[in-house]
Amino acid sequence: MDLRNQRASRNVEDRRGMGLGRIGGGLGVGAIVIAVIAYFLGFDPGTVINVAEQVSSPQDTREVPKGAPADEMGQFASKVLGSTEHVWGQIFEQSNAQYRPPTLVLYDGQVRSACGMGQSAMGPFYCPGDQKLYIDLSFFRDLQTRFGAPGDFAQAYVIAHEVAHHVQRLTGSFRKLEAAQGRVSREEFNAISVRMELQADCYAGVWGHHAGTLNQLQAGDVAEALGAATAIGDDRLQKQTQDRVVPESFTHGSSEQRVRWFRRGLESGNPQDCDTFAAARL
Ligand SMILES: [Zn+2]
Repeated sequence: MDLRNQRASRNVEDRRGMGLGRIGGGLGVGAIVIAVIAYFLGFDPGTVINVAEQVSSPQDTREVPKGAPADEMGQFASKVLGSTEHVWGQIFEQSNAQYRPPTLVLYDGQVRSACGMGQSAMGPFYCPGDQKLYIDLSFFRDLQTRFGAPGDFAQAYVIAHEVAHHVQRLTGSFRKLEAAQGRVSREEFNAISVRMELQADCYAGVWGHHAGTLNQLQAGDVAEALGAATAIGDDRLQKQTQDRVVPESFTHGSSEQRVRWFRRGLESGNPQDCDTFAAARL
């Protein structure tokens, strides 16, 4: 990517190196087990940590001043966030709406969110309760070493995917998932989750389309993001972890689906082409 001309967003809370501070109730072993399973099965931690919340302690109220961190990775993440703010700001404006950007929280190890405790093992997640996206930047290293998806645009895709969940929060798609929680069968819930996730991939593609228009993409970037989408498909993750594929338990979609929806957004640049909820075939 070429982000030289991109302003770094100041909507960043840098909690790296801060630890957790006082832990009230403590994080039970159960929550950790749930979180790790969530990660390996590709569940979206945004929904899973609601379970973890029951055994975790109250909110950490320590204020962390917002601003773009100075280090290279922090600057990169802040600039990608800045680019998403620019792109979604314009898209919302075109439909006479105002885009209220999310906050990006950088942390290491564990983090407290309005959705409960976050663990780096869960991978990046978005919490609709506090409208923040949480990323342990070591995930970017995992993306390269464990998932074989190197490259800065692969990393940017991950941020853009979490930002897309925020867009869903603003547009109301997220409510479909919240409304279903605890009221439908596991299979039905997972089916809604897959539509949510594929829409987020498509929205990430929409951002990528406009980043291209802003001359922020370089040769090879798109291939990097497609590599990341392939690497984190549920079928691929399941094969890696349990040697078989169980489509009913998919919550993010197969590699092929993730790539296809991302590409769709990337080619059109129009979020209206991302209606996975109306799609007959995912
Ligand atoms: Zn997601």
